Amino acid sequence: MTKKIVVLPGDGIGPEIVAEAVKVLAAFQQQGLEIELEYGLIGGAAYDETGTPFPDDTRVMSASADAILLGAVGGYKWESLDISVRPEKGLLAIRSALNLFANLRPAILYPQLAEASTLKPEVVAGLDLMIVRELTGGIYFGQPRGVRTLDNGEKEGFNTLVYRESEINRIGKVAFDIAQKRQGRLCSVDKANVLESTELWRDTMTALSADYADIELSHMYVDNAAMQLVRAPKQFDVMVTTNMFGDILSDCASMLTGSIGMLPSASLDENGKGMYEPIHGSAPDIAGQNSANPLATILSVAMMLRYSLDESAMADRIEQAVSKVLDQKLRTADIYSDGMTRVSTSEMGDAVVAAL
Ligand code: NAD
Repeated sequence: MTKKIVVLPGDGIGPEIVAEAVKVLAAFQQQGLEIELEYGLIGGAAYDETGTPFPDDTRVMSASADAILLGAVGGYKWESLDISVRPEKGLLAIRSALNLFANLRPAILYPQLAEASTLKPEVVAGLDLMIVRELTGGIYFGQPRGVRTLDNGEKEGFNTLVYRESEINRIGKVAFDIAQKRQGRLCSVDKANVLESTELWRDTMTALSADYADIELSHMYVDNAAMQLVRAPKQFDVMVTTNMFGDILSDCASMLTGSIGMLPSASLDENGKGMYEPIHGSAPDIAGQNSANPLATILSVAMMLRYSLDESAMADRIEQAVSKVLDQKLRTADIYSDGMTRVSTSEMGDAVVAAL
């Protein structure tokens, strides 16, 4: 049966990098992959046209999709808008509307790029880490929230960090299941020494581990985890953590690999439907220059094929093709070094399609 993929290019470099990922999908389509693409608006582009960063049309088409491919949202142009209609709200809204509670962020260091990392090659070479971030709960969604004026006239900003047992259990299960398919080690990251909600997080993960005798579960405070990620990142196999801690730690992990432009992500619901996007933002500083790295978005398509379309062999082929273009010394500006051949966004996309 034909699978429907909703494509949401978004803002900044979003349309440029998504166009390259669509080339890869089109190549598989020509080889018999039964998919249809439907384009929609999100973020600043959606706000400009409809007055909201997550229009109803996008909500409806995404709800009936098998998978969603997203570029990135945001940019200088929309920074002064009220927070309720800023482009980033569109992203939070679609994750929440589709109940995409599990965010999978692999940090893999391609050996060809070991020199691109700011860390010593021996610290990062061979890194293969998966961060599982809770995506629809925690402090980014907790109520009450806001800015209020106190009796003395001073303003006070406040947010709420809240997690229910059921929310912790379902993200925990995703992480334990992934650890079973990898090296069998799961590190749960919290701040249980000062935050009660993450004390519950720790207790719930420990209780869940009774169902996963084959997995070695450990716990780590988030401040230590940040330090360990830069000190000795290869000690980790799978990490599972809250929405905000995962947001920060996965960006840190991304830099271990040399470029934010290399890392894909998947956000899944309970049935395996997912939204796939690079972990980087809309990079307004380089938008429109045909210089952004499209590999994170192309690798997001590989994750889509693996997790939502049940086409693991095609996913493997994309990952091998990316490795091949790196072997061919092709590099976009963000991963360029002496002796390499510098290519544009579209040249990189074409090279991956040729290598497939
Ligand atoms: P960013 O990830 O957009 O950019 C950070 C730096 O990395 C910039 O120097 C940029 O040029 C570079 N970079 C990012 N992706 C690249 C790529 N594919 N190839 C080459 N270089 C790349 O983060 P930022 O500057 O903090 O945010 C810019 C905008 O993006 C903001 O509006 C922010 O809110 C938004 N944002 C969106 C998402 C998302 O859509 N998922 C995520 C993060 C930030």
